[in-house]
Amino acid sequence: MRPLIGIPCYSMLQQGSSRPMYGLGKAYVHALEQAGAMPVLIPPSVEGDDPRDLLVRLDGLLLSGGNDVDPALYGEKSLSSTVIVERERDDLEIPLARFAVEREMPVFGICRGMQLLNVALGGTLYQDIATQRPDALKHDHHSYEGPRDARAHSIHVASGSRLAEIVGPTTHVNSFHHQALKDLAPGLLSTAVAEDGLLEAVELPNHPFALAVQYHPEELVASDPGSRALFAAFVAACAAGRPAAAS
Ligand code: MN
Repeated sequence: MRPLIGIPCYSMLQQGSSRPMYGLGKAYVHALEQAGAMPVLIPPSVEGDDPRDLLVRLDGLLLSGGNDVDPALYGEKSLSSTVIVERERDDLEIPLARFAVEREMPVFGICRGMQLLNVALGGTLYQDIATQRPDALKHDHHSYEGPRDARAHSIHVASGSRLAEIVGPTTHVNSFHHQALKDLAPGLLSTAVAEDGLLEAVELPNHPFALAVQYHPEELVASDPGSRALFAAFVAACAAGRPAAAS
């Protein structure tokens, strides 16, 4: 049986009708399916439901990209009009992220998912790179009209890290983020940086698989063996963690 991997989804309005919907980028689902997993979308909790009751029945957690984590969750007020918050989603994902870390369930964070993991474990963020780190490279290519797999900058991966084992010492990545990690959460290790020093990946040592990247490997699986290897390693960790009786 393929490992079941939960991906929190979020509220949105259907274009045209404004009908309320739950949404998630298809690329996350397709990248997991191509790596041999079965994705399960997790909606924000409704009253009386604890999404952790669903997570215990799954084999892994993927935290996807999206809007910004509420700065109040790391003790700050919003510093910029570019900060767009989805508190309902934070309130779903933070308990799931902590639960996966505590239960040693594999967790893979992508973009917002890396920022969410850092905040869930006690870290902080640059709310807006352009405002707070004007010296930095351009990381926010949202307005770019071209393909989502266009490479924006390189990253240097720390030797000895899990990420280095999977993707190698350096790789060229896409970049669609206007926020970045500031103070690392206790226990999290920085495992990749861009040329400007901003963090591009983190992981928790002594955990079966708790790894996050600031770029979007789900958009690179067709063109980048390292991104395919990243999803394969995550799915393998999820499969390895399945109780023997259930497989
Ligand atoms: Mn970047």
